[in-house]
Amino acid sequence: MFGKNELESCMDTEWAGRCIHYFEELGSTNIQAKLEAENGAAEGTLVVADMQTAGRGRSGRSWNSPAGTNVYFTLILKPSYAPDKASMVTLVMALAVAEGIYGTCGLEAEIKWPNDVVVNGRKVCGILTEMSAEHGTVRHVVIGVGVNVGLQEFPPEIASAASLQAECGREVSRTVLLVNIMKSFEKYYESFRRNKNLSDIMGKYNSLLVNRNREVRVLDPKGEFRGIAGGIDESGQLLVEREDGSIAEIYAGEVSVRGIYGYV
Ligand code: ATP
Repeated sequence: MFGKNELESCMDTEWAGRCIHYFEELGSTNIQAKLEAENGAAEGTLVVADMQTAGRGRSGRSWNSPAGTNVYFTLILKPSYAPDKASMVTLVMALAVAEGIYGTCGLEAEIKWPNDVVVNGRKVCGILTEMSAEHGTVRHVVIGVGVNVGLQEFPPEIASAASLQAECGREVSRTVLLVNIMKSFEKYYESFRRNKNLSDIMGKYNSLLVNRNREVRVLDPKGEFRGIAGGIDESGQLLVEREDGSIAEIYAGEVSVRGIYGYV
């Protein structure tokens, strides 16, 4: 049974997810995690919910979060690096989720920069990182993740979504998946924390990038353009070659990237 006891007994990480706060229902795991971080929760505390009534994505978008079938969690970090480094943890988590999916059910998950994990070109995971900083110091960072594990039916507005079970045709344990994601995150986050950049993991991230070397549309609020997606650089920016040969360095912020003919 997915829940606190099973998660605690299976979690064999060093620090990420060693302390688990489990809820049958929450508005949003990120909001709960921010409250707990303000109230002294330690680094590595994991907030997990069976369902969210107000799950959120970037830019105020919503995350479909029904009960009994998927994974919704938020990891609390209390880092000592500067606030401008924090957005990179989204990419660290995307890599951890892709690896965790492969390790759990053998599906070759790919990454749609910066924060989506896709299987067979369809979105199975979204990630929302939020930070609280003051006087140039990070108070806390929360990384919220939703993974579609067993969901079978998707509302029409998320036609690009998929779930792990639908894609691999067999049951996938939510507990094993969450443990595998935490183990991968811990490994990659250590190298990020040491280097304060993505230099050690960018090769792996780029090898999983779904739009690499393909034409993409960059949906920048300042103006949409097309180009060929390269990989990320060590700060996590996506390098896109414009038609005139110049290279645009895209900072995640509010930018989305799409394939020319659809979601990827
Ligand atoms: P995009 O995926 O459009 O590039 P984004 O990466 O900023 O945008 P997120 O913040 O990751 O998007 O997630 C919000 C979007 O994901 C929603 O607008 C909706 O289209 C889609 N979505 C919502 N719930 C789910 C879900 N359970 N599975 C897959 N996709 C979802």
